[in-house]
Amino acid sequence: MTSYCQSYPYGCSRCGHQGEAEVWRVVDIAERPDLADEIRGGRIRTYACASCAQPVTIDASLLVGRPHGAQAILFAPDRSSDRQERDRQFRLHLHFLMRGWTGKRPVPRDELFFLPVETLDVAVDRDVEADLNDRAEQAFRANTARLQRYAEWLDGQLHIRRANRLVPLLWRLLHSDSDAEYQEIIESERMLLDDDVDALLASVGADFAEDPETLFRLEHLRALLRRCREHGVERVFSGDLPIGPDARKEETGEPFSPQIMAAVMRLAGVAPESYPEVRAALEAALQSMTEEESRLALRVDGELVPLRPLFTRELTRAVVRHPRHAADLREAARMLTAGMTDFEAFPRARAEAECILGTVLRILDDRDGARAAFECALRLRPRDADPEAWARATTELGSTISALAREGDQAQLDEAIGLLETALHDLPAAVSPRTRGMLRQRWARHW
Ligand SMILES: [Zn+2]
Repeated sequence: MTSYCQSYPYGCSRCGHQGEAEVWRVVDIAERPDLADEIRGGRIRTYACASCAQPVTIDASLLVGRPHGAQAILFAPDRSSDRQERDRQFRLHLHFLMRGWTGKRPVPRDELFFLPVETLDVAVDRDVEADLNDRAEQAFRANTARLQRYAEWLDGQLHIRRANRLVPLLWRLLHSDSDAEYQEIIESERMLLDDDVDALLASVGADFAEDPETLFRLEHLRALLRRCREHGVERVFSGDLPIGPDARKEETGEPFSPQIMAAVMRLAGVAPESYPEVRAALEAALQSMTEEESRLALRVDGELVPLRPLFTRELTRAVVRHPRHAADLREAARMLTAGMTDFEAFPRARAEAECILGTVLRILDDRDGARAAFECALRLRPRDADPEAWARATTELGSTISALAREGDQAQLDEAIGLLETALHDLPAAVSPRTRGMLRQRWARHW
């Protein structure tokens, strides 16, 4: 015997009678075809009141074993149990079922379905997995109330399966930084191009209202998927699609241009060898930036910095690393100097901009200008606020002052040495070995 039942108390809502009923908790349909008929008839959880014969429904979990069915185990939890209790009941029932089990052992994991008790009347005779496939391909017709209930459950399962596949994909897309990776993921799962994915991404956005960078990435992803839907994945990534403000105007609702997005993506994962690409992306972005886009901001070092000054700063950094010619550096310095007022409300971002400006000006031999820039950076980002950045700026300032002093000013030379010495003497522990070494080297150069 593997099927088993328990006595359950019930209270009749009509006559108030308190009685007990034998409630089946485990049914092996090979062993008890009569109980399988009760399940098919939808009567397995319905009893007649012993006093007035009013039908009474008892809520209790039911495990149905089909030793030779397409799927071996169907489990209908009771409505009142939480997940933990449900799992406990399932394990207990399964233990009973296995005592006289004539089917495969052990039962394969994918031969198990959890489903509501009111769908068991249909499910008990079905290949559930095949029905799910048919339903997904719109080949499952539900033309009775019983089948309709079952079909609704199938739809729910399909929805859950879809979400389980989509979520990791969307997560990967949100953290991708290269076009090639985007293309690969989108091509591997065409369901990403379905309309409801857009609605899903839009609803996810509400969770990130406080996180502009993620919002920005979400919007980018939505725009990208929309373009792929409209123009085909291949065309979008081949780059032969008209882009820029004019093309964008035609495609209503697309919030950001691909140029802006490309620039942001490049900034997110800058490797030194990619500076030429970063530079090209930032130049394209700054050129095409609309008024609306220039008001967007990215979170950098804990500050929300508007795109235009941020991009200008990073473009200057990229130019310093890979100048095409000298005029390049002069133009970068001019641009960054002109845009410095945009950083007023963002001291950390400004400090970084001043450091970059100082470096450019020093290369251009404007040593006084460079000194002023580094001094400004040190005021805005003092030693304790960001020891690493402070140590770097101090190293640069020391070098700049001593470069000025080479023209014969001993007082300035002493000042430079003193500055580097003081910094070295009491260097915060957080300063990286590389910066530490650089500082020591610059100091040693004076002897
Ligand atoms: Zn009654």
